Amino acid sequence: MGTGENSAKQDMGTGQRLWTPWRHAYVIGDRGRQRPGVPDALSAWPGDLGCVFCNQIAAVDYAIAHGMDRDEAEAAVWILERGPHAYLVLNAFPYNSGHLMAVPYLHQDSLAALPLPVAEDILRLGRRAERALRSVYHPHGLNLGLNLGESAGAGIAQHLHLHAVPRWSGDNNFLAVLADTRTLPEMLHDSWQRLRAALQSDTLETATELSAVDSESLADSLA
Ligand SMILES: [Zn+2]
Repeated sequence: MGTGENSAKQDMGTGQRLWTPWRHAYVIGDRGRQRPGVPDALSAWPGDLGCVFCNQIAAVDYAIAHGMDRDEAEAAVWILERGPHAYLVLNAFPYNSGHLMAVPYLHQDSLAALPLPVAEDILRLGRRAERALRSVYHPHGLNLGLNLGESAGAGIAQHLHLHAVPRWSGDNNFLAVLADTRTLPEMLHDSWQRLRAALQSDTLETATELSAVDSESLADSLA
């Protein structure tokens, strides 16, 4: 093994070198434009809604409408599952393996302001996420929570999202390390594959079980 390989491995340990390219791709997309949430794979979508979550859904829908395979389009932004009013997506900057979020399609910063069917869909997906995280990662515990407003710790305050983070006894020190190094696309892909499979095999509280009343009441509440 040569010196070059050794120094490369040492660089691998610092985190920054691994972290920067992925962050760059995620944050700015292609052509250097400021389009948060739009990865290179979905850069054909021409828009910019100025929001990571609104952008990622719009870019995925555009790609699918233009012939991209649904799995491929959803994997490009780590979407795990889509419900009628909200979706599950991996956090690209996780605090722990499996860190995911339930996100409404509505661009809204308040839980109280969401139409009830939307809030219920977030909670339904949160319950499905809890089961998937328990079956895949066997954590000792889970954090499920909303940070409303930047003062409360929200990274994307304008678009509410429910965090689900698997936790293990004694992982606090480890989290401090992860805060610097974060994770690799390969690790995200592994999490995505395992959690998507777990969700697809979970027959409880699926979106198809929701009654037509739900969409009618949503239409009423939005009218
Ligand atoms: Zn948004």
